Amino acid sequence: MIGLESDIKSTFVCFEDNPVLRKDGKEYVLEGKLYCCVKGYEELYDVFNVVIVVPFNFPNLLPTVFEKDGKIPRNVDCHMNKEGQCCFGTNIVLFDYMHRKNILSFRQFLEQIIIVHFFQVKHFLVKGQWPQKPEEHFTRGLIDSYKRIFNITDNDLRKILSGKFKRYNKCLCKSNRRFDKCHGKYIPVEQIQQDFKTIIAYLQIRR
Ligand SMILES: [Zn+2]
Ligand SMILES: [Zn+2]
Repeated sequence: MIGLESDIKSTFVCFEDNPVLRKDGKEYVLEGKLYCCVKGYEELYDVFNVVIVVPFNFPNLLPTVFEKDGKIPRNVDCHMNKEGQCCFGTNIVLFDYMHRKNILSFRQFLEQIIIVHFFQVKHFLVKGQWPQKPEEHFTRGLIDSYKRIFNITDNDLRKILSGKFKRYNKCLCKSNRRFDKCHGKYIPVEQIQQDFKTIIAYLQIRR
């Protein structure tokens, strides 16, 4: 596997001019104008001014992407938050998608997730509909994601939520295997722990 920095540099061809790449703490920050085009939809071609933050331990931590020019309205329908950060759906669904598509490099993440996302938003803005069903997102989506990815019910999830989840626990999918020998092969345990905190807080607010 190639180093992350050269992996990121290999994506410069996807940008107009040369993007700027710098290190900031434990992250790379990539800034530039990204060409967004999907085969068969050339009429929807566009260029988006983006800031992409790539954690040093990608793909264990996922990149965050901001659109700088406000070309995309910052609302739920456009899967953009108020800070201009793109929503790719829940991380757990992303990890599952990356596993199924064998996405290991940042270059693949950029081409198959980020650029495709901008294409979908553009499709929505021009044609009024998403080319695919919008992803599950936010905390409500988080619960749906867990139920779908692990094929479990609300009740199953509630049971698992009590107690700290560790990598050597039984997997959530009821395979009876340890998490790290099952879904934990491609979903970091830290992601599960963080999501559980979010879900618990959300369920308490709703109670
Ligand atoms: Zn979203
Ligand atoms: Zn499993």
